[in-house]
Amino acid sequence: MARGGRFLTGDATSLQSQGAGWSVQTSGGRVQAEQAVLALGPWADALIRTLGYRFPLFVKRGYHQHYRSPAQLRQPLLDAERGYVLAPMQRGLRLTTGAEFAPIDAPPTPVQLLKAEALAGELLDLGEPLSEPPWLGARPCTADMLPVMGPAPRHKGLWFNFGHAHQGFTLGPVAGRLLAEMVHGESSRVDARPYLPQRFM
Ligand SMILES: Cc1cc2nc3c(=O)[nH]c(=O)nc-3n(C[C@H](O)[C@H](O)[C@H](O)COP(=O)(O)OP(=O)(O)OC[C@H]3O[C@@H](n4cnc5c(N)ncnc54)[C@H](O)[C@@H]3O)c2cc1C
Repeated sequence: MARGGRFLTGDATSLQSQGAGWSVQTSGGRVQAEQAVLALGPWADALIRTLGYRFPLFVKRGYHQHYRSPAQLRQPLLDAERGYVLAPMQRGLRLTTGAEFAPIDAPPTPVQLLKAEALAGELLDLGEPLSEPPWLGARPCTADMLPVMGPAPRHKGLWFNFGHAHQGFTLGPVAGRLLAEMVHGESSRVDARPYLPQRFM
């Protein structure tokens, strides 16, 4: 922001090629730019399909549930053998699941959480779950489990940056830097070739 950036909220499905660049409808009106980056995580597939790209993308879903547990856990606990995590959070004890293979818009299922709840319950008294529905997220995955980063092969000035799978939080800063270097044609310490969209064409 201090260097001139602006945050605007908009709908990426309003993306249009305009003049020598791209435009998108936002709360601050229609915004135009020479370069646009499509970074929609698990929602990228729907938009790139409208542009004629068919990449092998899928999601791995995962759930969190908070419990009013009487147990006083002081640090997160990973049960690697049985595949769940318990973490003390401000809102209670958080139980997380492993990966569920399902379409992004499929209704939530109770299967994974019930299994993790039974396993974690052998170790600690979880208490009652909070009355809110479990959180459900989707990890944006590709067939080779590497992100898609680089210029959209058939659309000048459009860049792809999605598919960071299980590591998107961790990779965010370095992915942002690599993409900025690509957009500006700068050299990079990271070899971008494994991530280029062309590998799926
Ligand atoms: C259960 C679970 C556990 C995870 N654990 C970890 C972990 O421990 N460490 C780690 O590094 N990563 C983890 N991840 C992965 C990480 O969350 C993702 O890789 C990361 O969020 C991907 O970042 P992104 O910016 O590409 O997509 P997202 O973070 O999904 O952001 C995409 C954004 O696009 C927006 N959007 C969608 N459609 C439109 C539209 N039409 N117009 C405008 N905006 C739109 C969405 O609202 C969203 O804000 C986990 C994911 C899940 C589901």
